[in-house]
Amino acid sequence: MAGKRDYYEILGVSNNTSKDKIKNAYRKLAMQYHPDRNKSPDAEEKFKEISEAYAVLSDDEKRRQYDLLGHAGFDQRYTAEDIFRGADFESIFRDFSFGFSFGDIFSTFFGRRGSRRTVSRGRDLVYGLKISLEEAAKGVERRINVTRTEKCGICNGTGARPNTSIKVCPKCKGAGKVQNISRSSFSMFVQVVSCPLCKGKGRLIESPCHLCRGTGVAKRERGITVKVPPGIEDRYQLRLRGEGEAPLEGGIHGDLYITIHVAPHPHFERIGDNLLYNLEIGFPQAALGTKVTVPTFNGSTTVKIDHGTQPGEIIKLRGRGMPRLRGYGKGDLLIRVNISVPKKLTKKQKNLLKDLAREG
Ligand SMILES: [Zn+2]
Ligand SMILES: [Zn+2]
Repeated sequence: MAGKRDYYEILGVSNNTSKDKIKNAYRKLAMQYHPDRNKSPDAEEKFKEISEAYAVLSDDEKRRQYDLLGHAGFDQRYTAEDIFRGADFESIFRDFSFGFSFGDIFSTFFGRRGSRRTVSRGRDLVYGLKISLEEAAKGVERRINVTRTEKCGICNGTGARPNTSIKVCPKCKGAGKVQNISRSSFSMFVQVVSCPLCKGKGRLIESPCHLCRGTGVAKRERGITVKVPPGIEDRYQLRLRGEGEAPLEGGIHGDLYITIHVAPHPHFERIGDNLLYNLEIGFPQAALGTKVTVPTFNGSTTVKIDHGTQPGEIIKLRGRGMPRLRGYGKGDLLIRVNISVPKKLTKKQKNLLKDLAREG
């Protein structure tokens, strides 16, 4: 094993540190290097390294073995999977507020690296959903069809043709990994590699399923109901946990992200939680005052225009705007008064305006 660092050194603790202090040291480093937080290219590798060190040193028996044997001897006894088995990550990550779980930890370690023997995670999917502004205001339920990989229905995910057998791989005895030991005159190198006979799966299928060709998953179109909450904004992403693709070899499903596209509305413009409506009235109505009917998403409403209303003036109808996605209540309906100037006049209108102009 070329250059594997000492577990105590990785966590920055001494050889006789207590379990609690090891946990604290790991918690601190995990906050710093979790790939969801730390986007530097080697954060994931670093996170894996500290997690491995924690998995070993937090377990009394593994720690004793490691103290006794050092890396070379320890790595011979334990596979990567063994090292993480039984380690208590849950109690540490429960306290974190950035939403990843135990399963995510394992997909970080094994899923993305393509090791298929251990818990993997299916791919996330993204789906664009177009809705109207009125649907965004009221909330809507939509049925969508998503094509995704799912557990194969013929072999129930085993990859084997029904009524044929699956054998435990005789070479790796089901572990999916084998050790290559090479010796030189001074040292011994132990390397854990994917089993060449079963290709890391730990089992051998005698007759692959005809539908999924032994992969255990198949593409399928699936109807999914999406609940769009009232007040949703354009480009907002809804996350449907576990509705993404099925993983190969068991494990957990990916997520389905729904990107919302709110279509422009012919009458209303959305500004934050408010709706803007452009109202056209004539100069005499603005000067004398009037009542007009204005559309809203809950039927039309009558609005009083005061005499002497100026062009561009805004009349606010409180609570008639968009629902607030976060928090309570609704925004306002803003009615902007525009004064229309007629392009054609009848003879009578012309004379009336001439009289008015002389008065002014
Ligand atoms: Zn199948
Ligand atoms: Zn094997």
